[in-house]
Amino acid sequence: MGLRLYNTLGRSLQAFEPIQPGKVGFYGCGPTVYNFAHIGNLRAYVFDDIIARSLRYLGYEVKHVMNITDVGHLSGDDDTGEDKMVKTAAQRNKSVLEIAEYYTEAFFGDTDRLNIERPNVVCKATDHVGDMIELIKRLEAKGFTYMAGGNLYFDVSKFPSYGDLAMLKLDEQQSGSRIEVDANKRNPQDFVLWFTKSKFEDQALQWDSPWGKGYPGWHVECSAMSMKYLGESFDIHAGGIDHIPVHHTNEIAQSEAATGKRWVNYWLHNEFLILGAGKMSKSKGGFLTLKTLVDAGYDPLDYRYFLLGGHYRSQLQFSYEALDSAKASRASLVERVLALREKVPAGGAGPTPVAALCPAAKARLDAFRAAIEDDLSTPRAIAELWGILREQGVPAADALGAAFDMDRVLGLGLASLKRAEAAPVDPALAAEIDALIAERIAAKKDRDFARADSIRDGLKARGILLEDGPGGTSWKFSEGASPVAPGKSPTA
Ligand code: AMP
Ligand code: ZN
Repeated sequence: MGLRLYNTLGRSLQAFEPIQPGKVGFYGCGPTVYNFAHIGNLRAYVFDDIIARSLRYLGYEVKHVMNITDVGHLSGDDDTGEDKMVKTAAQRNKSVLEIAEYYTEAFFGDTDRLNIERPNVVCKATDHVGDMIELIKRLEAKGFTYMAGGNLYFDVSKFPSYGDLAMLKLDEQQSGSRIEVDANKRNPQDFVLWFTKSKFEDQALQWDSPWGKGYPGWHVECSAMSMKYLGESFDIHAGGIDHIPVHHTNEIAQSEAATGKRWVNYWLHNEFLILGAGKMSKSKGGFLTLKTLVDAGYDPLDYRYFLLGGHYRSQLQFSYEALDSAKASRASLVERVLALREKVPAGGAGPTPVAALCPAAKARLDAFRAAIEDDLSTPRAIAELWGILREQGVPAADALGAAFDMDRVLGLGLASLKRAEAAPVDPALAAEIDALIAERIAAKKDRDFARADSIRDGLKARGILLEDGPGGTSWKFSEGASPVAPGKSPTA
């Protein structure tokens, strides 16, 4: 069928055709490094990862570029508020560069733990101010800019297709606009390309420019850096949906005004992760990070698995109950893969290569590919993964071969799972579990199923799973990699 993607530009599913056959240029807006990423932000980066991995899986050579914003991002995307970096640096009594370095490292720590592959190019805004100045000069030469109150602005009225991405109508926006009006702006949507003395005399980082000593606006960095590394036209640009009306709209305006060409062909936007009553935001504080989840006993991959269970274009409601169910589901997935691996003889041929899969495994893989090609449907892709792992009559080596291939996209680390070294079971714990199992067997005999279930559920809540088989009831820890060896109870 071929890859189809939902393009925000045009709001429709479209067949994907790269500019150069077989190659994809892909830019995803990176973090502003003034704080830890919250788990909503991480949804956006897991999404970028799914885009890159899916394209590679489908045979494209991908160049993935991501920026690090370390200057110019104000608390309002429309040039209002304070500079996020400067504010944090002042609060912590650190330099802006120290803050940037610390949170950039923390960001990649998180993305590594989520099995997010590193982009091919990671570019810092502060290293590319020269490129931004060159881009702004081009805009100035073509008459798209004006100076007011010490800032250089982009004049959106000079760019007739302004707002196409967001389907904004400028005249409607102007009446009853929510945009805070900066008296220097000719149109409410005009935005700053270069700040000089109008804001933040104390701005830590400043550069010389034809418009005076100052610093670049936030939007211009993405235009300048993406074009530097991907050329003046490229295939895919991604980000969260909040960026559609301002940031991405402004990126398009500057880029296309400067080059006179179509800049990006496919715009992909992930929906939000919703926490409790509303949107999670770094600026509002009180947000959850990956560390919050890890400290509460979750593996980062539980969170990845939770995210992949929702389609990127649907809002996802975060709750610990939902995360618990993702954790339990991933634990059984891990257990299933380990059990299959134990059936594939060590020293033998190992998992079956894709080209040699049996018809049933091949059919699953085809369905998996179709799910990915259908606008990156990770929920359906995961269903196919489960399908092959559970399918009756498929040799273990074929099931594993197909599952590992699917994991090139899903990134759940299936091929590198290891059963933990068997450590001795704590005898007191083993005795307690055995006593509970015996009590459950007795309860069943007495047809007291409520008691039997409550024993099983009580153990499950403690991470201990009971399995009833022909040889009796055995138990194991719910994580695939359990800290202690599984025990065996007396038989019924
Ligand atoms: P920022 O650092 O604020 O530019 O955000 C980084 C990325 O996270 C951007 O692509 C945002 O669109 C995205 N984002 C922010 N909040 C959420 C959320 N709650 N759910 C999903 N994506 C988000
Ligand atoms: Zn951007």
